[in-house]
Amino acid sequence: MRVVRISVPTPFYVGPVNVYLIAEDPLTIIDTGPKTKEAIDALRAGLRAAGFLLSDIRRIVLTHAHEDHCGLARAVRDEAKNAEVLVHEWETGHRHSRLEYEEHRQLLVRAGVPEEEIEMMRRMYDGVRQYADSLADHEYAPLWDENELQFASGSLRILHTPGHTPGSCSFLREADRTLIAGDCVLKRITPNPVLSPDPLNPARRFPSLAEYLVSLARLRACSPTLVYGGHGDPVHDFEELFHRYFRAVQQRQGEVIGLVKKSGVTAWDVALAMFPNADDVHRFLAVSEAVAHLDLAHSERKIALELKGPTEVYKPAT
Ligand SMILES: [Zn+2]
Ligand SMILES: [Zn+2]
Repeated sequence: MRVVRISVPTPFYVGPVNVYLIAEDPLTIIDTGPKTKEAIDALRAGLRAAGFLLSDIRRIVLTHAHEDHCGLARAVRDEAKNAEVLVHEWETGHRHSRLEYEEHRQLLVRAGVPEEEIEMMRRMYDGVRQYADSLADHEYAPLWDENELQFASGSLRILHTPGHTPGSCSFLREADRTLIAGDCVLKRITPNPVLSPDPLNPARRFPSLAEYLVSLARLRACSPTLVYGGHGDPVHDFEELFHRYFRAVQQRQGEVIGLVKKSGVTAWDVALAMFPNADDVHRFLAVSEAVAHLDLAHSERKIALELKGPTEVYKPAT
């Protein structure tokens, strides 16, 4: 099975995104790049270098529905005359190219984010969503955990690996234990568990970091020999990276618990203390990171949680 990495530029801070071409019948791409002219040109050029046209694509598989990964899904599908688009059902919040705004707002209020910051984050998100076309529910086919994507000469096993987003998926080729993992595994960056409503109960938030650690352990149990991530170079030593991630999580847990004062702190207070210089999109990611770590510490009873009106306030465990 021939896997070709195509690096596609994005207008985002993260830099280029990886699209993976599975040069097999049915011709498949995993992720697409954002909806920009530069991205579709790069995708076209990458396909051409591998001997294909965009219109040859029969199947578009999305690791998750962030704009840099899914933005071109509709354009590619249309040019490829109704290629199939697959994504996990838990990506609903993102895949319409809009956050369920009211649900997110409530999560941000609970995290103690001030009203004017929430308004700024909304405006920022309005800017980001232009980089993806929306598709209706019936235009997607679902990815199911433990099912297989079939190809003429083999298959990829679908692994639901939530954490970065609720519906993030990875794809394992068992013959040589190579893995395509989207933003679940990145060589240089520790993936951010992004603040999301729980797909099963949108009034609650998704326990992203706890889920992420389970997903990482599950990937580790596959003993991958090579991991293709959503950004940057492939990872040859997953075991080393796994331990590095766990150390980073533990270190941050210590840091976050240390910021929880007797007088009580919100996730927003913790985010500002950890990332005093974060601006625009990074404020949202900073809050995501703070909430994810506070949730994990609270679930392990290392800190206490009280409600103050609509806002959650954390205090040292008693
Ligand atoms: Zn992502
Ligand atoms: Zn990404």
